[in-house]
Amino acid sequence: MMPHDGQQPIYILKEGTERVTGNQAQSNNIAAAKLISSAVRTTLGPMGMDKMLVDGGGGVVITNDGATILNQVAIEHPAAKLVIEVAKTQDQHCYDGTTSAVVICGGLLEQAEGLLDQQIHPTVICRGYRHAADLVAKEIENLGWEATEDDFKTVAKTALTGKSAEAANEVISEMCVQALDAVKEGDEVDLDNIKVLSFEGGTHNESKLIEGVLIEKERLHTEMPTDLTDASVLLLSTAIEMKESKMEARLNITDPSQIQEFLAIEEATLKEMVGFIGMHGINVVFCQKEIDDLAVHYLAKLGILAVKRVKKSDLEALRRVTGASLVSSPESIVDSDLGIATSIEEEKFGEHRCITVHTEGARSVTAILRGSTGHSVEEVERAFADAMGVVALTHTEKTLLPGGGAVHGYLARMLRAEGLREGDRIGMAMEAYATALEGIPRTLAENAGLDPVDAIIALRQTEDYSHGISVEGNVEDMAKQGVMEPRKVLSNAIASATEACVMILRIDDVISMKPGSGQDTEMYG
Ligand code: ADP
Ligand code: MG
Repeated sequence: MMPHDGQQPIYILKEGTERVTGNQAQSNNIAAAKLISSAVRTTLGPMGMDKMLVDGGGGVVITNDGATILNQVAIEHPAAKLVIEVAKTQDQHCYDGTTSAVVICGGLLEQAEGLLDQQIHPTVICRGYRHAADLVAKEIENLGWEATEDDFKTVAKTALTGKSAEAANEVISEMCVQALDAVKEGDEVDLDNIKVLSFEGGTHNESKLIEGVLIEKERLHTEMPTDLTDASVLLLSTAIEMKESKMEARLNITDPSQIQEFLAIEEATLKEMVGFIGMHGINVVFCQKEIDDLAVHYLAKLGILAVKRVKKSDLEALRRVTGASLVSSPESIVDSDLGIATSIEEEKFGEHRCITVHTEGARSVTAILRGSTGHSVEEVERAFADAMGVVALTHTEKTLLPGGGAVHGYLARMLRAEGLREGDRIGMAMEAYATALEGIPRTLAENAGLDPVDAIIALRQTEDYSHGISVEGNVEDMAKQGVMEPRKVLSNAIASATEACVMILRIDDVISMKPGSGQDTEMYG
């Protein structure tokens, strides 16, 4: 037992545990979180730059997407991880606005640092920030307009601006709107009904949307049709080939005439199986298993398009869009098992030949994205996900706000006025919060190569909430410029940035176990 006479220190933490307390803990955390935000801020907005990330194995990702950047880099610092969480939740709930959320969080911490330097207690700062966030949440509910038909495409375009896929924004935004129209059910949108496939080769502009599904297989015979309309579809779960038991006959063959006989039987059996298919006026067969070459030949002769070894999941999708049921043998086909497709085509995407199955009114679509290289394909996938997400969000949430930092500027003006009215330390925190919100228009102007101070001064002279920073960096009416975002993208980014910032500011004690000390839990006081 340790003597406890006041002279000897008492060890309550395991050896090797590191502890940082008070101001030191705070400034370490703030510095780490600010670093995260400064890492992504140059990518913000229409003039934002891209980042090239190289992993340990030499793999390269080129992206403009905040959440992707932060997911890719290995970050150790616990406070920095909290900021990355902000980007992740923003991405999960709102699809877009990840960089903005991180930039706001960084701005809030930077402003808090200034207040801490003036000996304002972190708890007071947190209270001021929370109050400001509440006012913002209330005010933002009064802003915006209900999305019109035309706005959907504009929202998609806003989400695409500044990304490498922007050059194809006409095509991609149209795809998003079409996809939404196909899969929406009432106010709901299930994004799982939008399948995304991407192919290397071709340009972003060659991307397209199929109402229905795409099967990554080619037809089995060059004489089979490549284009069908109002096609009758069979989904088959078994092979079209000789059954095992009949194959065993081979063992008993002793003289050449028997071979002939055997072949004749095989031929007749396959012909019969294909005959069943032909009898029902079927145009297309999607078979889960093998199709014998001879059967392929007979199918081709009948003008039937056949595809073999179709994945179970693809058959399931085909079942959904064509209304066909999965049949277990050609003998047992009944007409009600067959499905209908408006058109079926074999198409070439880059090097891949695929079968596209269009069905009008199918609640399932496939977005086919194209890009000339692997990197550009990946970036267009991310851009499509953002744009599709905000289009869906617009459908469910309805309200839109102008982009370009217009709302941030407006809310900052409101908070500054409120802060002055308060007059005390809480008021100072509210003004600091306002400055942090202005970080969005400031960064947009900065990334456009303009003087951020001039831009902020010009913005402060406007009164409505629709003036923001245009692509060129000037103050303009964003709604008129066609720059708009779902309200939730903005409100959620501000709310979660505040949350993370307050969490970080409240920490004054960081106790971390040494890696490998047997405990990987870390404790934050
Ligand atoms: P985030 O990850 O936050 O979505 P982005 O790089 O996509 O980051 O930039 C989003 C910001 O760019 C938003 O504030 C949005 O309003 C703004 N923005 C998008 N298009 C334009 C435009 N044409 N003019 C001005 N601002 C725009
Ligand atoms: Mg964006």
